Amino acid sequence: MKTSSVFLCAAIAAGIAGCNSEHGVEQQFWTPLASVTVDSGSGTTSAVAVPLDNLRRALKVSAQPQGCLRVSSAINIAGEQLIANLAVSDANIWRTAKLHQAGLLVLEGAAAELTHISFDAVACDASAGGTLPTGVMVESHLSAQPTHPGLKLRLVLSPAISAELDTELLAQLIGVELQLDIAITAVQATADSEVVMQHQADFSSLASILAVLPTKAQDTIDLVIGPCLLQQTPFGRQQLAGFTPRIPGGAGPADGVFVARTNCGFADAAPGTVNEIARLAAHEIGHYLGLAHPEEADGSEDDLASTNSHNLMHRIPLTATATGLTFEQRERMLAHPFVTEL
Ligand SMILES: [Zn+2]
Repeated sequence: MKTSSVFLCAAIAAGIAGCNSEHGVEQQFWTPLASVTVDSGSGTTSAVAVPLDNLRRALKVSAQPQGCLRVSSAINIAGEQLIANLAVSDANIWRTAKLHQAGLLVLEGAAAELTHISFDAVACDASAGGTLPTGVMVESHLSAQPTHPGLKLRLVLSPAISAELDTELLAQLIGVELQLDIAITAVQATADSEVVMQHQADFSSLASILAVLPTKAQDTIDLVIGPCLLQQTPFGRQQLAGFTPRIPGGAGPADGVFVARTNCGFADAAPGTVNEIARLAAHEIGHYLGLAHPEEADGSEDDLASTNSHNLMHRIPLTATATGLTFEQRERMLAHPFVTEL
């Protein structure tokens, strides 16, 4: 049963597989804001000052030399602690989210008034211990909200899918699901690989799929279609229909979205019809742009004001009624710095 049923999931946490920094490319998109050290006694950094403005701002946070981080304090212009204040829901996700090696913080909603932020060095895996980062680099990206919002996708296709996939139609269908203009900037090939994640935050094998590709533009999202995605669970290996390492995506290793083939037993199995691939891809891109499932299997809900569990972000997006996004979901998506004028 476990191998035939498919589950969609996305982890907030992400795995570590080294740091890729193509400085020539990154500096065009990300502007250094501050580098702070972790106090060896408290395990916390000093506060990084974030200038206020009326543009969209996102922060890219990188652990140095490597390890995991958590936001320990986020203060707004009124001096309020955003991550301790349950009424200020937009920043609540920062309280528990662990940034594995790197993470992207989109300053939208209540977080748009952020003026100071600091970080804790934390263990990536409670059982493994491991090294704690000694420093944190914070970079910033400012942009205007696009008039005609769009996304740049680089397709990474396995042989089984690349032969028959109509990429123009796929782009069109993803665009309809997300209500965004979609541009395919390049198509790359990847093997019919089998990816086994040892736990929900083990992304080393996902990272290795992307690590061999040419460097992508910073604001382009890699959409990988066709590998077999398996996750080790206490009950055995579970096959995933799709996976996105980080909510939101945009930093660190394994930075992309993954749509799996339907049957891991067959290397040449396709991930389904172009409509199904588009739905799954749009759902995973939704995660990448900052959206969680409106409702999880255990009944917990996302942090948005209005929630609709039967739209595109339904945890099983191929169910018949799973289309469309709420106004709040769209607003969150449009705040991501990779949503841009094409
Ligand atoms: Zn999902």
